[in-house]
Amino acid sequence: MRLLEAIIAANHRAAAGDATAGVNSDDFADALPVVALTCIDPRLNPLLPEVLGVPEESFIWLRNAGNIITGPMSSTMRSLALACAVKGGKEIVIIGHTDCLVCKTTMVQLTDRFRALGIERTNLPANLNEYFGLFASERQNVMKAVEHVRTSPLIGRHVPVHGLLVEITTGRLEWIVNGYQALENATSTLPLPMQNAGPVPGMKLPEFQFRELKFPEGKIGGDVLETLRSISQVVAVTDESQHLQLRTTEPETKPPPAKRGNEQRPPSLPQHQKAQVPPKLHQPFTKPK
Ligand SMILES: [Zn+2]
Repeated sequence: MRLLEAIIAANHRAAAGDATAGVNSDDFADALPVVALTCIDPRLNPLLPEVLGVPEESFIWLRNAGNIITGPMSSTMRSLALACAVKGGKEIVIIGHTDCLVCKTTMVQLTDRFRALGIERTNLPANLNEYFGLFASERQNVMKAVEHVRTSPLIGRHVPVHGLLVEITTGRLEWIVNGYQALENATSTLPLPMQNAGPVPGMKLPEFQFRELKFPEGKIGGDVLETLRSISQVVAVTDESQHLQLRTTEPETKPPPAKRGNEQRPPSLPQHQKAQVPPKLHQPFTKPK
C-alpha cells in the first residue's frame, strides 16, 4: 500500500467511526514529507494535517486563496518546487475543499468588495477571473492545479501529484486525481523499447531549454526564506491539542513533540482562532445521522 492509499483508507475508516484508524508514518518514510497546497480558508486550520493522519513534521503546508495554481511556472509553483528541492518533499497533494468562497464569489461581488475597501475597478486588472484564477468548480480547480504541477518542468517526473477534495464539515477526503495512476499511465504509454531498454538510438526526446526560461527578477533565497517563514507561521497557529482525528502511529522511542511556547503567539490569537471554528469541526468524523 502506498502513502495516499493508506491515507484515504484510514480517513474513510475514521469517517465511518473507527476511532483506531490511523497511518503508520514509519511505513511510509520514503513518501514523506508530503507537500500540500490548500486554500486559506480558516476552517481548514483544525483539519490539517490531522485528516491525512501524517505527523506535522512530515507535512509541508502551502496555502493560497482557492488553492490555485495559475501556471507551471507561477509563484506558487516555485514554492512547490522548492518544497521538494529544499525541504525534501516526496509527494505533492493539491487539496481543495467544499464550500470554497473563492469558487462562490462572482466577479460582480468581488468588484463590490474591492470597492468597499476603497479599490476602484479601474485599479484592478482587466480580466479579474484570469488574474485571480477564479473558478466555478472546486473539483475542476483541483484537477487544473494538478495538471499544472504535473506538466511543470520544475517538478521531478517521478513525484506523484495527487488531487483531493476535503469535505469542510466532516473532514472526509475524496481522491479526485490519483498521482500514482498518472505516473503509471505516463510510463505505459511510452514505446516498449524505451520502457525496457532506455533511450532508443536515434530517438531523442525534446530537450527542455532551461536557459530560455525567463525567471522573474529577485533573489531566490528570499523566496526560500519567505516560504520557510510562511510554513513556520502556519505551523505556529495550529493547535495540536485539539482536533486530532487520525492517530499517527509513532515509535515509542521517539522524543515527545517539541512544545511550542505560548510566547511565540500573540496572546489573543488562540482564543480568537478557536472562537471562529464552528463547534461541529471539533468532531469532524462524527457519523452522520
Ligand atoms: Zn477555499
